[in-house]
Amino acid sequence: MSPRMNGLGIMPEDTRICVVMVGLPARGKSYIAQKAQRYLRWLSVPARTFNVGNYRRENAPQPSADFFDVNNAEGERKRRAAAQAAVDDMLKWFREEQGVVAIFDATNSTKERRKWVLDQVSKEGIEVIFVESKCDDEELIMANIRDVKTSSPDYVGQDPEKAALDFRERIRNYEKVYRSINEDGDEDHLTYLKIMNVGKKVFINRIQDYLQSRVVYFLMNLHIRPRSVWLSRHGESLLNLEGRIGGDADLSSRGEEYARKLPELVRQSVGSDRPLTVWTSTLKRTIQTARHLPKHYNQLQWKALDELDAGVCDGMTYQEIADQYPEDFQARDEDKYNYRYRGGESYRDVVIRLEPIIMELERSEDILIISHQAVIRCIYAYFMQKTQEESPWVPVPLHTLIKLTPMAYGTEIERYSANIKAVSTWRGKGSTAKHEDPAPEGGI
Ligand code: ATP
Repeated sequence: MSPRMNGLGIMPEDTRICVVMVGLPARGKSYIAQKAQRYLRWLSVPARTFNVGNYRRENAPQPSADFFDVNNAEGERKRRAAAQAAVDDMLKWFREEQGVVAIFDATNSTKERRKWVLDQVSKEGIEVIFVESKCDDEELIMANIRDVKTSSPDYVGQDPEKAALDFRERIRNYEKVYRSINEDGDEDHLTYLKIMNVGKKVFINRIQDYLQSRVVYFLMNLHIRPRSVWLSRHGESLLNLEGRIGGDADLSSRGEEYARKLPELVRQSVGSDRPLTVWTSTLKRTIQTARHLPKHYNQLQWKALDELDAGVCDGMTYQEIADQYPEDFQARDEDKYNYRYRGGESYRDVVIRLEPIIMELERSEDILIISHQAVIRCIYAYFMQKTQEESPWVPVPLHTLIKLTPMAYGTEIERYSANIKAVSTWRGKGSTAKHEDPAPEGGI
């Protein structure tokens, strides 16, 4: 068995997992599924969600609640066909596209249905882990229905109030047959994670290997309290002025001006006096950028937030790198994500060291991160689902505060410019220009 390397370390070549979601409608299954998919893909683990609702919509685009009644034979037939089509595509993806983690997103709310999935998937030598979201907080469920269900394609063009009532009725139909995993004590052989009331309590049963436990640990850390993550690069540094990369320089006078303006920018974007927790790197330019923030903000320095290590090229200009290491310069442009500076790091390396930061971000509430261009690109790529081809080229201007607000199925972004001039540190493919203006589109 040859090992396979990705952002979660070394795994055996044949590790394949199917995460089977379980739970009544509006319990956050799709929310959990898309978060897990995003996290795994960011770590270069091939992951894909198969949502049975999307398959069902092909044959029943706008069903009313009685479609989901167990006594509705036509509804049963169509729902089973949708589940079968999703399982077939999922197994094909494992076989033909070297899939590693599939997420089977459906209610799977009966023992029979769980056994049916388990039998088909385990026959192919794929591990199955059930992830159940159980929630009896009626207020939260109604909020979920209003937030995401009334705008679902199932209810396009319908009155939201009527849609919410119909969805509540749909849930009642599922409740008639729903069995929580191992509720009757006869599913103890299953591998599962049961999340009760958004993580107030969790049950873990028979989790086996490394990848399973990483996925479980990630899912245990999710929460749905409203919050934002703010990202800022340090203020302009003395080395930025010279077009030199890396180093540990002080701020320029304009960088210092940004540091003084940052508290106001933060207040404006927070919209209240609620305090943030501030994370900086261990380098002078980020610590100096944070120094005028209110004293009651907790500040923490993370080595993991230090800039991408440019190894032997640290402190050089792009022109010097192109002159002294022409092959390296070209190799980096060809595959910037994977190119590792001699004695330094690649973007891939940075993502791996940022994994604990992402885990901590998921657990936390309002955090302001003051870090560096490459690091911010990697964090941004996680939230905005940027590919490995795109993320190393994203323009992240100096003297700009970025606010990311995670929503049910995506992330909202707002930008606050300090309107303080700074050099551009963006470089286009093939260029050695010192202070090039980025392409207008695609920036954050
Ligand atoms: P359906 O079966 O209809 O597809 P679902 O279970 O997939 O429903 P989602 O579409 O994921 O439900 O519901 C999203 C809502 O659930 C979001 O508003 C999100 O904040 C909330 N949510 C996320 N996690 C949980 C959880 N563990 N428990 C309850 N609600 C959650």
